[in-house]
Amino acid sequence: MRTANRIDKLPPYLFASLDRRIAEARDRGIDVISFAIGDPDRPTPANVIEAGAAALHDPANHRYPSYYGLADLRRAIAGYYRRRFAVDLDPESQVLPLIGSKEGIANLATAFVDPGDVVLVPDPGYPVYATSAILAGGRPVPLRLPESRGFQPDLAEVSPGDAAAAKILWLNYPNNPTAAIAGDGTFAAAVEFCRANNLLLAHDAAYVDVTYDGYVAPSVLQTPGATEVALEFGSLSKTYNMTGWRVGWAVGSPVAVEALGRVKTNIDSGIFNAIQRAGIEALEGPQEAVAANRAVYRRRRDILVDALNSSGWTLVPPKGAIYLWVPTPGGESSASFADFLLEEAGCVVAPGIGYGEGGEGFVRFSLTIDDARLEEGAERIARALKERAS
Ligand code: PLP
Repeated sequence: MRTANRIDKLPPYLFASLDRRIAEARDRGIDVISFAIGDPDRPTPANVIEAGAAALHDPANHRYPSYYGLADLRRAIAGYYRRRFAVDLDPESQVLPLIGSKEGIANLATAFVDPGDVVLVPDPGYPVYATSAILAGGRPVPLRLPESRGFQPDLAEVSPGDAAAAKILWLNYPNNPTAAIAGDGTFAAAVEFCRANNLLLAHDAAYVDVTYDGYVAPSVLQTPGATEVALEFGSLSKTYNMTGWRVGWAVGSPVAVEALGRVKTNIDSGIFNAIQRAGIEALEGPQEAVAANRAVYRRRRDILVDALNSSGWTLVPPKGAIYLWVPTPGGESSASFADFLLEEAGCVVAPGIGYGEGGEGFVRFSLTIDDARLEEGAERIARALKERAS
């Protein structure tokens, strides 16, 4: 049997490798505390589960879903944009439900990228932007997000050749893995760059509603001129603890919505209708769980920042996302520091190099474990570092 050449260029998925490492360590008897994966530990809100359960019993929901998502779900997503961002979207031509945002993020390259085309990807960044570009025969070009610039890109660094060959510019704020929020001019500069160079601005807003300390994250579609050039990806996964349900969306440019929809309708058959009903309840029902989630993550963020700062770091608590992006001590490599934390503290973190070259020198801690384990993990790390220093 001969697999396709294109998958030779594909690295193993970072989190699949991390899952394996955690399992191996547990098999060796290590009581592993995993800070590795951004998968909310708290349950989906009860009203959402009930809406999904009720919809399960309706045989109308047992058939193939409509390809473009239920009209009610598209309207619910447009309603959310109106309330939350004061952005008006046409539910027919500007809203496309996705089987989780990862699905649409990955399929976008098929709709936009021909062999040899460039995709500009944040570095460090969520790995799917680059790997989907590779699968489409494209060339991911890293957009550096240095800490010294608050993890913002400088589009003047893109060479004229790459700008001309680029089909998609990816941004993601609040950001995974750095937890940075969008800088003041970041979206406006990206809209301008995409208009000038005739490419799509794809903004991944998976963490737009997971923010702290009064910070309210914007939609890229609030930027003047964005609707013609931008497609924004959203998700119920992190806001409502619904990673397993698989509901996301792409909204914005009608051209991009049509192109992605054309790819998708040829590949998948949409989201199970009962889950779409649950998704509508998430968006239109009571929102207390969203605020409760923020409070939980903020507390965990503060516990971990305080603990690491007591061990010598000088971390500033991030304003969004569910991560801490932590420089390795003394510039140690991210893989080596992650190994040390696993072997000496039984804690798994994601090595920054898994997010691109620009992630080297950092590890990512996820805040999706309960306070007691988080505190224990932080204590173990402090102890291991002290022993190593002595
Ligand atoms: N985008 C970012 C930045 C993420 O971190 C994730 C998941 O961790 C996703 C997208 C995918 O989310 P989902 O497919 O669950 O909507």
